[in-house]
Amino acid sequence: MTTERRDVLHSWCVQADWDAPTIVGGEGAYFIDSAGRRYLDMSSLAECMNLGHQHPRIVRAIRDQAEKLCFVTAAWGAESRAALARRLLELSGFAGGRVFFSLGGADANEHAVKFARQARGLPQGRVVARDRSYHGASYATMALSGDTRTQTQVDAASFGVVRVPPPYAYRCPFGTEHAADCAEAAVQAVAAAIDGEANEAVVAVLMEPNAGTNGIVAPANFWPRLREETRTRSVYLIADEVMSGFGRCGEWFAWQRYGEAGRPDLMTLAKGLTGAHMPLGAVVLSAEVAGRLEHEMLYTGLTYCGHPLACAAGIAALAAYEEGGLIERSKRLGAALYERLLELKTRHAVIGDVRGGDGLFAVIELVRDRATRAVHAPWPMTSLPLRTLVARALEAGVSLAVRGNLILLAPPLVIAERDLTDAVDLLDRLLAESDWS
Ligand code: PLP
Repeated sequence: MTTERRDVLHSWCVQADWDAPTIVGGEGAYFIDSAGRRYLDMSSLAECMNLGHQHPRIVRAIRDQAEKLCFVTAAWGAESRAALARRLLELSGFAGGRVFFSLGGADANEHAVKFARQARGLPQGRVVARDRSYHGASYATMALSGDTRTQTQVDAASFGVVRVPPPYAYRCPFGTEHAADCAEAAVQAVAAAIDGEANEAVVAVLMEPNAGTNGIVAPANFWPRLREETRTRSVYLIADEVMSGFGRCGEWFAWQRYGEAGRPDLMTLAKGLTGAHMPLGAVVLSAEVAGRLEHEMLYTGLTYCGHPLACAAGIAALAAYEEGGLIERSKRLGAALYERLLELKTRHAVIGDVRGGDGLFAVIELVRDRATRAVHAPWPMTSLPLRTLVARALEAGVSLAVRGNLILLAPPLVIAERDLTDAVDLLDRLLAESDWS
């Protein structure tokens, strides 16, 4: 037994079952364990290593920053913090806005809600979020998340969260047949939730604009329509771009697919912000929201807000996306991956639905029976055949992510085209060889 297996409390698992190899290095889309085995990373670990493993430019930036200045609190200025904020405002087009730095995605979402509430002058204003979403595992973000794994740990209403059904077109909670109708119904549900609260108590809607970690990909009309309805009601729209940002959905930020018609009032970032080379999250505030906070005391902070080392990693990451043309590359390879998966669907009855394709993010939803859409295991459980498939892929040197009956494909944006093709070929073979009965 390794000391890690004995001593560390690991997340999202049964402690007694945890038995993973020790990872000692990586390069590009591969990571390497202590026995020298290489794994092709088809999920960017937690959909976060968008730039691959051990990106030399980021490693160098962290080293250079460490030699100059490791840390200073937000009470003092830091060059890398200022430069990263500037670049994020430029890339997102939030002219005149501000950036608040956090340590990851959950605290970015918590702070986005705080800022929206403060800007509206309602410190406990309501926030609309949706089922089958994931916004983090801190208490407030468990309340915001519609995640069956954590829902029972918290009373969402006491956190001021109003939950609505998701635009999950394949199993539309509104019973619609077409994806666009499902999205419209989901938007109407948000509108009704806002209108149903007394005294304009809803300050914000917090949602993932495109792909969600829980495997829903919103139909294309969802976000722009949500923007319209929230704007009409003067309710802030917060885009959780923690996973969908930084090329994952084929744009710097997923809402940019809709241009100005999709611009949120606030957006939250993490993961791809440093390509997971350093823990860092951010809330980007529009000029309007930032303006409302400008002359008010901001009663919040985290000791490591805007940590100079993490911000240096962020600057290097943004440069790496740009220089490698990786946002465009993700769009191109994502479209090709989606086409390949649709082709797989024509040959594998076990594939019920394929979603994504805007960038290097795709979801394959497996079903026992295509006609009834019956599943192999109730959500969020994973069936034995799917767990076996994942184990066999790992034996073949390919690391796949699954959630329930879903296979999530989200490789680093730097993955070699040959590797991507080989991984899908392997998946094709394993789907055929598995016993789905
Ligand atoms: N929001 C989304 C969409 C996510 O996918 C995640 C993490 O998976 C989070 C928020 C939480 O981020 P973190 O784990 O950095 O707290």
